[in-house]
Amino acid sequence: MVNAFTIDFEDWYQGLEIHKIDTWHKFESRIERNCQKILEVLKAHDVKATFFVLGFLAEKYPHLIKMIHDLGHEVGSHGYSHSQVFRLTPEQFSSEISRTNEAVHKAIGKTPIGFRAPIFSIISECYWAFDVLAKNGIRYDSSIYPTFNYRYGMIKADRFRHERSSTDSNRKIIELPVATATFMKINLPVGGGAYFRAWPYGVTRWAFHQINRQGRPGIFYVHPWELDPDQPKIDLPKRLSLTHYHRLSSTEKKLHRLLDDFQFSSMTEVFNLGY
Ligand SMILES: [Zn+2]
Repeated sequence: MVNAFTIDFEDWYQGLEIHKIDTWHKFESRIERNCQKILEVLKAHDVKATFFVLGFLAEKYPHLIKMIHDLGHEVGSHGYSHSQVFRLTPEQFSSEISRTNEAVHKAIGKTPIGFRAPIFSIISECYWAFDVLAKNGIRYDSSIYPTFNYRYGMIKADRFRHERSSTDSNRKIIELPVATATFMKINLPVGGGAYFRAWPYGVTRWAFHQINRQGRPGIFYVHPWELDPDQPKIDLPKRLSLTHYHRLSSTEKKLHRLLDDFQFSSMTEVFNLGY
């Protein structure tokens, strides 16, 4: 069974929802260093992955996007400015997607067919997003997390591959939710990120075995900054600072174990989507 390995490609300060794009110039850029780091980890295990890249980074660092692409990885979209979808109008969201498409096309000569929303922010209030994605050439989405979290989650969503469409259109999008495992009828968020750092590695191993035993691939995600324990420490609200800075130094070691224990590839390879 081959699982999907994905990277939400953003710098260490860009996923913090309290710091918006107009403040990003104040922070030290560490994306080049952290991009190299994640590429080295993938290379060590000969794994191809999907990088959901921020349009802002694709505009500013086209050489990084080209390097990712030239190494055989898939380039998907993470929107332009890391804005949560439910805070945008359909017009604003459309412009996030098209601007990112343009930047990626300029860097590698093709546009993304996959999308992951910042902070898994496609929720039931914004199903119109599927229509916007389809209109902009996106064929699959990985923004629904069928679990509960204070910032995201659709606990009742299908845990595995299914189709989605907006309420007023026939345009279909393939939905590929991030990995969850079930324990006592509860969907546990085991797909990566802060949970991967917080829990012992054995939890992730148990979860991916459970998913694979059901004949399903699991979808894992990580951020480049999670491999950077030396990133600047800034003042953040406690809840945010706990999840952002928690056990950063454990990520790399755990990633090597995960990539030793399971097979991984990009979304388009694992789900036969053609790219
Ligand atoms: Zn993100």
